[in-house]
Amino acid sequence: MRLRHIPGAEEAIASSPYVIQQPAEYRGRFHELFGNHNPIRIEVGMGKGRFIMEMAARNPQVNFIGIERYSSVLLRALQKRAELELPNIFFMCVDAKELAEIFEPGEIEKIYLNFSDPWPKDRHAKRRLTSPDFMKVYDQVLCGDGTVEFKTDNQGLFAYSLEAIPEAGWRIDAFTEDLHHSPMAEGNVMTEYEMKFSAMGNPICKLIASR
Ligand code: SAM
Repeated sequence: MRLRHIPGAEEAIASSPYVIQQPAEYRGRFHELFGNHNPIRIEVGMGKGRFIMEMAARNPQVNFIGIERYSSVLLRALQKRAELELPNIFFMCVDAKELAEIFEPGEIEKIYLNFSDPWPKDRHAKRRLTSPDFMKVYDQVLCGDGTVEFKTDNQGLFAYSLEAIPEAGWRIDAFTEDLHHSPMAEGNVMTEYEMKFSAMGNPICKLIASR
């Protein structure tokens, strides 16, 4: 994603009612924020947030938290969020590395990774959101039967993930290398990147992992 500094982004985020300002303060009690005990799902690297806002609209019995580390990107999601009346979605401007400090063990039901940055160079492999280091973080916050759902059009990152995730001690429950022509497409909600890359003719890959 191309990033440019947007003046006022930090201020807009700091004063937004849709952004959890000190997320670690809610550790173990996010249900108080939502006012219910519904399961919580997060998207790591949500970008402009199309996917997670549509998921929240379609699933009112589930709580959603969108996580994006760049304020300039999160700002775009906030603009869209202001047009919606949804009680079951909040955002955080944090790096996914911090998830275990923010959520208690087992507090999350599902993690979505959509079109994560591929980091193609070997020396950057640790930055990939499906790397063993990140899978360890997800292991700490997911409940026992929790799952990670990952979509990408990047063949290299997908091949890497199909190997790296089992090496990290996880099971691949299902996968497809052509989501839009697969039974796994049922109920699929497209992300911004998914719309762009599938319009270019790129097949979309998806896997579901559990441990
Ligand atoms: N998920 C969106 C979609 O599919 O349209 C956006 C995809 S974009 C390529 C990846 C996003 O993940 C970027 O906005 C980036 O800032 C964010 N991101 C990457 N690494 C992250 C991390 N460690 N923690 C939080 N966000 C991250």
